[in-house]
Amino acid sequence: MNRLRIAEIFGPTIQGEGALIGEPTVFVRTGGCDYRCSWCDSMHAVDTAFRHEWAAMSTDAVWTRVHALSGGRPLTVSLSGGNPAIQDFGPLIAQGQAEGYRFACETQGSIAKPWFGDLDTLVLSPKPPSSGETVDWNTFAACLDAAQTGPKVVMKIVIFDEADYGWARAAADRHPALPLYLQPGNAEVDPDLPVDPQTLSDRLLWLVEKVTADGWFSPRVLPQLHVLLWGNKRGV
Ligand code: SF4
Repeated sequence: MNRLRIAEIFGPTIQGEGALIGEPTVFVRTGGCDYRCSWCDSMHAVDTAFRHEWAAMSTDAVWTRVHALSGGRPLTVSLSGGNPAIQDFGPLIAQGQAEGYRFACETQGSIAKPWFGDLDTLVLSPKPPSSGETVDWNTFAACLDAAQTGPKVVMKIVIFDEADYGWARAAADRHPALPLYLQPGNAEVDPDLPVDPQTLSDRLLWLVEKVTADGWFSPRVLPQLHVLLWGNKRGV
């Protein structure tokens, strides 16, 4: 039986970032990731030190939980992580879509899966230099191939500094057909500490001023709405 490693399932809440910002969503956060980004805000779904908190669930059990949280009213289910692309979500997507639910997946684009083509939205979020990771653009292209013409595919990049910004411009040149969403990075990722709204606002303003000064008008620049509302609290 297909067992899924799940760090948490929560919602309904709103999607806090990217193309589906503000959309009512239930999140299925998967356990495990092939990256170790220096500023990761979801280490409880990445670091195997948290493995004891992850549940091995059947597709049916995950679906039962999503269905209960949403009261059986179809909405968007976001597969996030960790890296959901490590696992097989094809059966869950088929089960949910048969009842009218929509599925989005956010992944860094380091692993391509056939079920990408069944999604409604695929958010590819390649990680800039400040993450400490290196993007394999061939694998990223394989993710686009796997999606084919199925889902809406967008690219989302987190920007922490000038180097990230320059890197994002090069990434946009590499994939000009992908709608691009930029967001300022949040370096305050400790779930037990409050975030400073002024710092978040300052970082957003810095990024807005960068793109407008450069006349770079193709990306949309957005805050992380959930961080503004709830800080780094888990499960909201
Ligand atoms: Fe965290 Fe995402 Fe980086 Fe994985 S890819 S370590 S989940 S930020």
